Amino acid sequence: MGVFDHPEFDQHESLHFIQDPGSGLMAIIAIHSTALGPAAGGCRRWQYADDAIALTDALRLSRGMTYKNAIAGLKFGGGKAVILADESAPKSTELFRAFGRAVEGLGGRYVTAEDVGCTVDDMRYVNQETDYVSGLPKSGDSAGGDPSPITALGVFLGIQSAVKARLGAESLHGIRVAVQGVGHVGLNLCRLLHEAGAKLTVADVNHNHLQQARDELPVIEVAPGELIYSDVDVLAPCALGNILTSVTIPKLRARIIAGAANNQLATEADGARLIEHGILYAPDYVINAGGIINVAHEYYGNSSEERVRDEVARIPERLDAIFAKADATGQPTNVLADEWARRIVAAGRSESTVAA
Ligand code: NAD
Repeated sequence: MGVFDHPEFDQHESLHFIQDPGSGLMAIIAIHSTALGPAAGGCRRWQYADDAIALTDALRLSRGMTYKNAIAGLKFGGGKAVILADESAPKSTELFRAFGRAVEGLGGRYVTAEDVGCTVDDMRYVNQETDYVSGLPKSGDSAGGDPSPITALGVFLGIQSAVKARLGAESLHGIRVAVQGVGHVGLNLCRLLHEAGAKLTVADVNHNHLQQARDELPVIEVAPGELIYSDVDVLAPCALGNILTSVTIPKLRARIIAGAANNQLATEADGARLIEHGILYAPDYVINAGGIINVAHEYYGNSSEERVRDEVARIPERLDAIFAKADATGQPTNVLADEWARRIVAAGRSESTVAA
């Protein structure tokens, strides 16, 4: 299969393959759209089974960023980078500096930040080579730093919306939530849910992350392979994507899916499959936009944590608009979100009003 007829290619503006023998860097930068501004999206470092899977991930994540940034009302297009993790090329200053040079070489068409497998510190090394990077250490109450707590806040507010829409409950007190992955976002989300009185079930493949959750919070632990099938009200995927498939959906017991992970649906058709099984799905890139909102405020400067929080507080109204339209039309929420995002991109302007 060629790149141009790749099922996820979807008219990407450009695709960049980077190899730096000195540091061992192998990376792909996908730029889906710059219609609304520079293509912005994090850098994921992951050990992929092969290059083709890495490419598919980059393409899907990149298009998702176009849609996410559009609906969040940001002056950003969509892009994403994946670094192919390899034991022969461990994380190093040189690796991230080489990545920074690649980003710099794109002349501002792509703005990076941390995603799974990367940290604020890694972005500091990227920043030694380019200014087209965000998610850097913050000072005082200015916007910036690790976006995960803000992402978790947006997901928490989105879960409140979904619970109200589907279960008619005004509070999360006693609501049972299964959180898949207690990493940067998942653990912060668990803290917020616990404060709100929710009952937590968790799983993680990383023992240290699980231990931290266990030390801090009253959690029920289940095996990673069982988590998504837990008998709960809400499933909050906060690990990796592609977990909602024709195989898994019929076995789910949650009535709501609302979490941070990108690309939760394996295919577009899985959105309709969720409806058939009576499950309300909060489109991933709508509910998890808090991090990129934080990144945007940091990148464009002169903003505060308070302004970021005000923007993140608008995530529920966007979800409410999608849920209401889904109720009225019977259409899947993912399809409605995609259509909304494409309308914004086609109009060439960021969304400032809610009109799913
Ligand atoms: P992270 O790497 O800190 O956490 C992910 C956690 O999931 C890790 O603890 C990992 O061990 C665990 N995990 C992986 N596979 C698992 C499995 N099969 N079962 C259970 N646990 C598993 O990443 P993060 O920054 O918390 O991001 C989580 C997800 O949210 C990702 O999909 C990311 O793209 C998305 N996201 C993150 C942000 C952000 O601000 N960090 C913003 C938007 C979207």
